[in-house]
Amino acid sequence: MQTYARQPIAFVRGEGVWLYDAAGTRYLDALAGVAVNGLGHAHPRLAEALCAQAGRLIHTSNLYRIPEQERLAERLCRLTGLERVFFCNSGAEANEAAIKIARLYGHDRGIENPAIVVMEKSFHGRTLATLSATGNRKVQAGFEPLVTGFVRVPFGDAQAVARLAEHHNNIVAVLVEPYQGEGGVNVPQTGYLERLRQICDNNGWLLMLDEVQSGVGRTGKWFAFQHTDILPDVLTLAKGLGSGVPIGACLARGVAAETFTPGKHGSTFGGNPLACTAALTTLEVIEQEGLLANAAEVGAYIRQDLAERLSGVAGVREIRGQGLMIGIELDRPCGELVQQALARRLLINVTAESVVRLLPPLILRREEAALLTATLAEIIGVFLKGRMP
Ligand SMILES: *Cc1c(COP(=O)(O)O)cnc(C)c1O
Repeated sequence: MQTYARQPIAFVRGEGVWLYDAAGTRYLDALAGVAVNGLGHAHPRLAEALCAQAGRLIHTSNLYRIPEQERLAERLCRLTGLERVFFCNSGAEANEAAIKIARLYGHDRGIENPAIVVMEKSFHGRTLATLSATGNRKVQAGFEPLVTGFVRVPFGDAQAVARLAEHHNNIVAVLVEPYQGEGGVNVPQTGYLERLRQICDNNGWLLMLDEVQSGVGRTGKWFAFQHTDILPDVLTLAKGLGSGVPIGACLARGVAAETFTPGKHGSTFGGNPLACTAALTTLEVIEQEGLLANAAEVGAYIRQDLAERLSGVAGVREIRGQGLMIGIELDRPCGELVQQALARRLLINVTAESVVRLLPPLILRREEAALLTATLAEIIGVFLKGRMP
């Protein structure tokens, strides 16, 4: 169906940060399948692990124990400090699980009409509940009636969340991205998550973090919340978790981890042996190749180098982000930069109309990053000068 406005190009193979079309032309991938291919393309350890797993078992169903799923759950709990995991197949599904947990949590406490606080400019997925939670009218338009039970406030404004507690007695949770991705790579002020944690604690609300984009090494830590010293009650993951093999996860701790009992939720594919092997191998490679430190270091270099190259260029509003989640905000819509970069054999993305977004593989090296920044700064420079009022 006509759900995508695709670029007129196809890739037939990849290697590391490079993608190749059928003619053998090479493209530098600074988008990584939208924060999915953290290990780059055709990582030999992942390919080998997947082939071996496919030769043993791909799927058995959640009617039986799945050792790979149990190992992955243990590993994720150790990395996050959370206690239980539900596995599904996408980010939207992980957030659906979080929303259902919040509602069960509310009903368990006698709240008949539980509401979840969500943010302006947020993105949580395309299913009915997650598009209703999303703070973007374009994502919602035409799909009314929306799912009710969401209360929206501006992103980054902890005071606005605190004020809700004075007027609503049915709020049960706050759902927020630590760094907004689709909304424009928006970075909140220092202390924002800590303030939300406090407000949730004071009111008995669950703090639910959507790290579908920011998780699994993207920001230079395993998870973005680990740039602070707080723990969420619920955490959702997907994108980078399986390096392209579909897998999502909803983690929880404390009472939130006990709300789902047999029969309350489920998934046929969720957490199957193949997907869990992809995720286990992804986590192993990130650790063994030191990719968290690499993402932090190369990301800082990209932001610094772009700031230097674009300093004094009128029309560049802000260069921001954390690790390899980077946004360059311009003063005007810049969707056409995607084609201009493609013509220079560079894959980037534009989100929120005027923000160039970079989400390169976590394996990106400094030499490759230097090629990226040089090409991108040139394209942006030409674009802004060509269209100056
Ligand atoms: C991409 C994304 C989602 C949706 O994930 P899908 O796998 O496309 O369903 C949800 N939340 C955030 C923050 C995302 O970036």
